[in-house]
This record gives sequence, structure tokens and C-alpha cells, in this order.
Amino acid sequence: MKRFQSPGSLQSWCLQKRLENNPIALVPTMGFLHAGHVSLIRKARKAAGPTGIVIVTLYVNPTQFGQGEDFDAYPRDLKRDLAICRSEGVNAVFTPSHGSMYASPYSTYVNETLLSRQWEGIQRPSHFRGVTTIVSKLFLLTQPHVAVFGEKDFQQAMIIRQMTRDLHFPIRILLGPTLREKDGLAMSSRNAYLTENQRGQATVLYQMIQLARKELRFDPHRKWTSSRLGSVTQKLLQATPLIRLDYMAFVDPHTLQQAKTIRKGIRMLLAAYAGKTRLIDNGSL
Ligand code: AMP
Repeated sequence: MKRFQSPGSLQSWCLQKRLENNPIALVPTMGFLHAGHVSLIRKARKAAGPTGIVIVTLYVNPTQFGQGEDFDAYPRDLKRDLAICRSEGVNAVFTPSHGSMYASPYSTYVNETLLSRQWEGIQRPSHFRGVTTIVSKLFLLTQPHVAVFGEKDFQQAMIIRQMTRDLHFPIRILLGPTLREKDGLAMSSRNAYLTENQRGQATVLYQMIQLARKELRFDPHRKWTSSRLGSVTQKLLQATPLIRLDYMAFVDPHTLQQAKTIRKGIRMLLAAYAGKTRLIDNGSL
């Protein structure tokens, strides 16, 4: 497995691989890998084929963290991440320094202006600008045929699809399903912040998604409004005082606009805090 730290050397290597007609699949991550990331790496391998190139980037991108957010505290374990990538047969990892990714003076950003204004973008106003900027840079450095993202960050995935189309990146965006712990909690590097009690209650987000699905299955002919389904599912939060809901929404999966009534394919989006830890989850209804 190759490890690149300089953007220039990664780019030259990838350009060479492309010239040699190797399929290239990219998996951008912030490291502290868990089984969810591994599932994306396997999806990338499938897309690239056994002789193709799978590239995993391990980079805690500072521009997607707001003031006062957890950039410094974000969990990191490079040694373990490298071992996981090696054992998954990854061809190359990219572990750049901040100075090389954002050489001073740095002044160029990529901004998606429609989908990124809502939901996560409200509590975290500069977050998606950081995401679209780093992902564009990684696309330009690695020139992949395919890039793989997780549905766990559903809004992010939709914004990346939009950006890819808008900027004519010749890249196929693949999405992998959310991997969950046994009790339903969506896997996330940030789960490492949770206290035992918070961890116990954090499963409520998945329970709310499951309850919404159950209600719809239970009575498929009844017309559900979003507000009614919202109040039914929110009742679960009464038993979880450590979880503070930020938003719950039922949205069109393409526009991310709130839907008044529930139909098949509507996405339920959830964001909450356990102490200072932000938890997000989503599911298709
Ligand atoms: P992160 O390291 O949190 O920036 O995530 C890197 C990629 O992994 C993103 O495309 C995420 O959506 C995806 N991801 C994070 N958690 C999960 C999960 N539980 N299941 C599947 N994919 C995930």
C-alpha cells in the first residue's frame, strides 16, 4: 500500500494510473475508521475491480469545522487506520498536512448554494462549504472514475451529487447504506465522545425512524401528514432526557425540501445533541 502525504505526488501517481487505464475509486474519510467506512472501501473495490486502484483519504479537514466545534478533539488513530486500509487491500492512502492542503495564503472555496442552506447548514453555516471544497480538491488530485460516500450523511451526499453535476466532474458518485451498531445506533467516529448514559439513549434516533416505518406499514392507506408522523415519533424522546433534538424533518430525497404529506421514498432526517456531541441519522420511509 502506498502512502502519500504531498498533494503533488498523489496527483502525479493518479494521473499515471489513469493513463495506464486503471479504474480509480476514491473513498474520502476523516479517519478513525469504523465498519461503516470499511463497507465503503469494499464498495470502492467492487467498483474498481480486483486490479483497479482504491484510494482512501484520511484527513480531518479543518474548513468543514465551525468556530467552537470539535476539530481539535476529533478522534484520530492513524496507525490503526493504516492497518485497516492495508488489510482491506487499499492501494493508496492520502494523509496530507494542513499546510499542504491549504497553503497560506489560501482563498479559493467551492460553494453549493441550494441544498446546503438547509438542515445541517443552519446550525453549521460554513460546514458544507468546507466539505465541497475538500471533496473538489480530492477529486482533482485523484481523478477518480468513481467516488464512494455514505448515506449516513444524506444531505452531504446529495450536495456532492449536485456539485459533481454542476461542475462537470466526470465521476460516478456511489452511495453506501448506513452501517449500524447492534442496537441500531448509526456508526460514527463521533460516537467515541458519548458517555455510557448518552450512548444508551442515543439509539432513540434510529428508534424514531423505525417507529415511523412501523406506523406507515401498520396503516398503509391512512394519509399521514409530516406533522402528525412527527408528533407520534417525537414521543419517544420523552424517555431520553439526555438527547436534545435539533431538527426532525420529512423531506423529498432530491430537493431536501420539507414534504407536507408522507409518500414512499420520503427521507426522515434527524439531528440531535447528546451534551455537546452532535448526532445525525436518516432513513428512507
Ligand atoms: P467521515 O469520516 O465521518 O467524514 O465519513 C467518511 C465517509 O463515511 C462519508 O461518506 C460518510 O457518509 C461515511 N460514513 C460515516 N458513517 C457511516 C456509517 N455508519 N455507515 C456508512 N457510511 C458511513
